[in-house]
Amino acid sequence: MTIRSGKREFQWPSVLWCLHLYILGIYGLYHLVFVASWLTVLFGLLIITMGYIGLTIGAHRLWAHQSFEANGFTKFILMLCHTLAGVGPIYDWVLAHRIHHKYYGTEKDLFNHNKGFLYSHFITNLLGYPSDYEKTAKLIDMRDIESDYFVWFQKRFYTVLFIIFGLLLPINAPAEYWDEPIDTAFYVIGFFRLWVLLNVGWLINSAKIIWGLQSKDKFPPDDNSVFIINKSFWPNYHYLMSWDWKTNEFGGYDSGFTSFLLTNMENIGLISSMKSASNESIRDALYKLSINKNKSITIDDIFDKVKLNAEYEAAKAKLRFVH
Ligand SMILES: [Zn+2]
Repeated sequence: MTIRSGKREFQWPSVLWCLHLYILGIYGLYHLVFVASWLTVLFGLLIITMGYIGLTIGAHRLWAHQSFEANGFTKFILMLCHTLAGVGPIYDWVLAHRIHHKYYGTEKDLFNHNKGFLYSHFITNLLGYPSDYEKTAKLIDMRDIESDYFVWFQKRFYTVLFIIFGLLLPINAPAEYWDEPIDTAFYVIGFFRLWVLLNVGWLINSAKIIWGLQSKDKFPPDDNSVFIINKSFWPNYHYLMSWDWKTNEFGGYDSGFTSFLLTNMENIGLISSMKSASNESIRDALYKLSINKNKSITIDDIFDKVKLNAEYEAAKAKLRFVH
C-alpha cells in the first residue's frame, strides 16, 4: 500500500542552524580533546548523558510509548534533561515518533527508512512538515500526552526553559566555578553537546537502517515471528512491541545503559509498572494461533493478548510498593 503525502520544502533556518552546529560542534570536539580542562570535559560528558537520558528514557520510552509509569519528581527531572538536548518540545518529538510508528516505512513517515540513511537521519530534519501533517496528526491519539502536566509545561515555556536550563546555566558554569575561558565553554558545553544530542534524537528514528534486519536477509520477508520469539534485531522487535521497556534504542534487548538505569530507577521507586513481553506469554499466544484452524484469531489479536498480559504483570509488580 502506498500512502502519499504532501511535498516538503527545505527550511532554511533549520539548514543554517544545522550547518553551524556541525561546524562548531566538530570544533567543540577539538576543544574537548585538546583545550578544555578535565572538569569541563567531565561536566560536558555529564550533561550529554543527562540529555541522552531525557531523550531515551523520557521522550522515547516514557512519553512516546508509555512503557512504564514515573512519579512527578522523575518526570520533572526527565523534562529538564530533555530540555538540555535542545531538540524542541517533548510534545512535538512524541507526535512525530508516533506518526513514524503508525505509518512506518510509508510516505507519511517523516523518517521513512526506504529512502536511505542520509534522508532518514539527516535531510528529513531540514525539511518542513508535509502539507497534510496536521491532518495526519489528528489521527494520532495524544490524550495521554495532552493531559501530562510536565509535557504541557515544557511546551508552553520551551523557549525560556531552553535559554535558562539549556544554554545560560550549563555554558556559564565552567567559567563561573572553575575559571574555564568562556569560548571553550561555548564550544564544548554549547555546540559540541547540542551537536551530539541532536544526532542522538535523530538516531532513534533512523536506527532501523543501522541495527534493523533488511528484508532480503530473512525468509519469508513478511514473517515477524522470529523477532517476537527471539526478541532480536531491534528495531524490528521494537516496531512490533513498542510498549516493551526493554527494547534498547541502539541495538540489543534488555541491555545497554538506559535499561540498566531503568532497572535501578524501579528498585528505588522512581518508576513503576514496567511493561515487558514475557517469553511464556509469547509462546502461549503463538501456540493458540497455531492451533486456530478456522483463523478466528489474528496476529494482531495475539499481540494484544501479549500486551494485556504484560500490563497485568506490571500492575502486579507495582503492588510490592504498597504496604
Ligand atoms: Zn519507538
